Amino acid sequence: MGEAHLLDRSVQYLKGVGPRRAEALAKLGIRTARDLLRHGPHRYEDATTVTAIAKLAPGMDATAIGEVVSKGVIPTRRGLRFFQAVIKDSSGLIECSWPGQPFLDRTIRKGDTLLVSGPVRFFHGRQIQPREFTILARAGETVDEEGTVFPVYPATAGLSHRQIRHIVRQNLDALLAAVDDAGDIVPDDLRRRLELANLREALDWLHRPPTLALAEQARRRLAFDELFILQVLYARARYENREKRQGIAFERKNGLVRTFAESLPFELTAAQKKVLTEISGDMSQPRPMNRLLQGDVGSGKTVVALFAMLRAVENGYQAALMAPTELLAEQHHKTVTDMLADSPVNVELLRGGFRASQRRDALERISGGEAQLIIGTHALIQEDVEFQRLGLVIIDEQHRFGVRQRLQLRRAGAEPDVLVMSATPIPRSLALTFYGDLDVSVLDGLPPGRRPVKTVLRGESARARVFEFVRTEVEAGRQVYVVYPVIEESEALDVRSATEAYEHLSNEVLSELSVALIHGRMTGDEKDETMRRFVAGEINVLVSTTVIEVGIDVPNATVMIVEGAERFGLSQLHQLRGRVGRGADQSYCIVIHSGREPPERLQIFAATNDGFEIARADLRLRGYGDFFGARQHGLPEFAFADLERDEPLLHAARDAAARIVAADPELEKGEHRALGQALRTEYRERLRLFDVG
Ligand code: ADP
Ligand code: MG
Repeated sequence: MGEAHLLDRSVQYLKGVGPRRAEALAKLGIRTARDLLRHGPHRYEDATTVTAIAKLAPGMDATAIGEVVSKGVIPTRRGLRFFQAVIKDSSGLIECSWPGQPFLDRTIRKGDTLLVSGPVRFFHGRQIQPREFTILARAGETVDEEGTVFPVYPATAGLSHRQIRHIVRQNLDALLAAVDDAGDIVPDDLRRRLELANLREALDWLHRPPTLALAEQARRRLAFDELFILQVLYARARYENREKRQGIAFERKNGLVRTFAESLPFELTAAQKKVLTEISGDMSQPRPMNRLLQGDVGSGKTVVALFAMLRAVENGYQAALMAPTELLAEQHHKTVTDMLADSPVNVELLRGGFRASQRRDALERISGGEAQLIIGTHALIQEDVEFQRLGLVIIDEQHRFGVRQRLQLRRAGAEPDVLVMSATPIPRSLALTFYGDLDVSVLDGLPPGRRPVKTVLRGESARARVFEFVRTEVEAGRQVYVVYPVIEESEALDVRSATEAYEHLSNEVLSELSVALIHGRMTGDEKDETMRRFVAGEINVLVSTTVIEVGIDVPNATVMIVEGAERFGLSQLHQLRGRVGRGADQSYCIVIHSGREPPERLQIFAATNDGFEIARADLRLRGYGDFFGARQHGLPEFAFADLERDEPLLHAARDAAARIVAADPELEKGEHRALGQALRTEYRERLRLFDVG
């Protein structure tokens, strides 16, 4: 049996495993010997700095190792219960004390070898109050020699981190011997240039690092692998797009596009011109465009989209614009028909809630080619909508569309150009990781004459004053949004529902004003009618749930009040704030929070108007899984890479991947063969999830 086989074998056959433990390991995603070898500790206990117990002195912050010789729970007079244990090494004894943690009595046993670290103090004698502790061994188990960094592995039911460590230790040398340097996906010269550990070294240090610094070296190397393999895939996807797929080369015609440009009531901003040049360049190429347009709320993406769509239409193709909600699709439809009022282009809205005959007629116009510019929700691609000649697809507010949906779209037409527009700007490291197959355009800067929205945080006690302010703004002719997180009282007792609040505001607080309610459970017609009246200025105050979160554009609205702000994510709040400040008047975003002090999140929100900064903070606070709803979309999770910390590594991985794929697209040459092989085997499943395989 070849050596490589060992790593592919089931863990069950490794020393110290067997069927029962193999089952427990499977719960951690460990099935093969290779999986075990790559199962990294989630932290390390540094015992290289262990102090002999006799040398522990009050005032030190220290790490010690000793055997538990006695233990128990001690009640104090104030009713707090302490767990205490006395540990002993060859030099002496010391008491360890855990205030308020009597339950540890069930975890820590007499005879255990404990590693503790924390402050040493004097309390009826020397005492250490462990910040952290690790049971290195139970009575009778052997402890590895002192002076090592102990890996602490993620454990699972039926398998403690000690047992996992023991299994790894027993098998590590044999497994490392089976790691073939020729199978390293990172070519030698690249590895040396980036000062990365070689694979075998890295795996060794991962499990038994001589120092913490080497443990970090190991992590960095394995993180690089994760980033690199993904970037190689993206590089390949881009290569195939460039070389193998037939797209449409749209010509510059100076027809519809020019007329439209001349009819615009404003000058395009420099940023708009820049991204239009990029988009236009892509559209001229005989390969499909795959571009992400990132622009902060209110940066003017719609008009950019319209230019691109008209370019497709004047070349005899259809263009589709997809919005994440019906309300937005309707609004886009309105904006677009208004802006194209003097143009011969046929604009079609396909939305839910059409009567069967209405829908049939619309579908006929789409499949017959009479409809040139088609606007709808993602139902446009999910259902059996047939286009006559689809040339361009624009996805607005992309963060609600999964990677999968994006691909589905490609199948809807032959090879239409695709432009994804996002108003949730994401940090560059994320864009490269999640949209690595897309080219990115950034629309930075807002149209001129805008005043930044003033954001204030207010406690609930200030609500009366806030509505006083609403009255003044309305008297000055402006309009106001009030947004609530849920619509049914029953969904959360402590949040005032939009419906209930609407009753209260319209009948009492603002009874002299015209107040209306809009929420997701109203029919399309009801929502339409309400929005129409708001746009027309017949409604002063619009009470709403988050249905108005994205896209809505009413320049006369100057106040956005967000109730129950704790319930909103940062990016969501930023979207809401983006509903105001769209005209020339000073606008305000008033965030009402419960409690005395606003949480950190809200303070960040109030401190900046920059969507990119907000996205970074949001990401840091929530983690990228929640930020993106990544789990729903099957985006990969990294075991070692940390996108914030490893950004330089990510860029290195991307550059290297681009260079390698350019030189050897099929990854057949000597030093790339292992990489090509890994893509086809080891990483295949994982990457397939990601739609870039
Ligand atoms: P978003 O990027 O959030 O989708 P919109 O496309 O809705 O932004 O544009 C916001 C507002 O700015 C709209 O009212 C639009 O007409 C206006 N606008 C767009 N571009 C310009 C410009 N160059 N000069 C002035 N106003 C503009
Ligand atoms: Mg928009």
